[in-house]
Amino acid sequence: MALLFLSKHDDPTRWSAALHRHLPELDIRIWPETGDVGDIDSALVWNHPPGELNRYPNLRLILSLGAGVNHVLDDPDLPPGIPIARIVDPGLTGGMVEYAVWAAMRYHRNLDVYERFQREGTWKKLPMPDTARRGIGVLGIGEIGSACAQALSAFGFSVAGWSRTPRTLEGIVSYAGNESLKPFLARSEILICVLPLTTATRGIINAELLEALPKGAFVINIARGGHVVDADLLAALDSGHIAGATLDVFQPEPLPPEHPYWRHPKVTLTPHIASLTNPDTAVLPIAENLRRLSAGQPLLHLVDRESGY
Ligand code: NDP
Repeated sequence: MALLFLSKHDDPTRWSAALHRHLPELDIRIWPETGDVGDIDSALVWNHPPGELNRYPNLRLILSLGAGVNHVLDDPDLPPGIPIARIVDPGLTGGMVEYAVWAAMRYHRNLDVYERFQREGTWKKLPMPDTARRGIGVLGIGEIGSACAQALSAFGFSVAGWSRTPRTLEGIVSYAGNESLKPFLARSEILICVLPLTTATRGIINAELLEALPKGAFVINIARGGHVVDADLLAALDSGHIAGATLDVFQPEPLPPEHPYWRHPKVTLTPHIASLTNPDTAVLPIAENLRRLSAGQPLLHLVDRESGY
């Protein structure tokens, strides 16, 4: 049986080498050179063409090339019943933590303001902010969000997390469910979104959510562009209710050249690089799942199609 590698964004040579280091016998077919479609029993995918995965009658496992699976579940013709696994990788998580800490620290220490001062040639000192009194809220405290929350907590910030079900994380105040969203937001001077993109979370960063944040709050989105209602965020930035936004992800990507985010003085943006899947580390959970698939053992990091993550 064979693994189908199906991504226009990732380097098949690098991935094949990484996979063969762990599974030397693995038969890898690089899409669209699939050979006999009946040979394919697993597929490693990123943004596959809709309906494509229906062409493989013996497909038994879909592996996402990222932590998110919205790109898989968005396919209206996804074959039913086949397990979908995502990447859980300390290397990927580490990159996200670095980015979240950088973006939050930049706002906390007024570095965005000092960047402006430098451009203006202004020598001016602002009061030193109190770390313990700075409320940071992390939307989504799963694999990545909980690591971000704990890294920020280690600096002494007052960190809370919001999830669907209550979570116990040392040093983190847990808020769970829709009814606790408003109190969670009320204490979040810096809001970091690390939610999966699902039907329940699409557009969650909208006018109502932004209004519930304290005046002068900052928004950091490192999850998916579809979480943000762009017009609502731009209005909140222009009214001054939101003081700044750091955005790594957009809808669509690449962000069109005419989009107002590019030139907005209160927006800092990066091209979906908060973290990148590194084949050398991310191959481990993939190889382990392929081994389990052939041994008939329980698979790891499976996604619940119903909840969308
Ligand atoms: P997990 O599945 O481990 O965690 C998801 C978290 O979100 C959980 O805490 C979950 O709650 C919570 N959640 C989901 N739905 C809801 C809801 N409706 N209401 C409240 N909370 C909810 O995901 P990861 O941490 O591994 O990844 C998160 C996302 O980060 C990915 O889906 C991906 O889109 C994004 N990402 C972005 C990258 C980038 O470079 N910008 C790189 C890697 C990932 P509960 O704990 O109760 O289940």
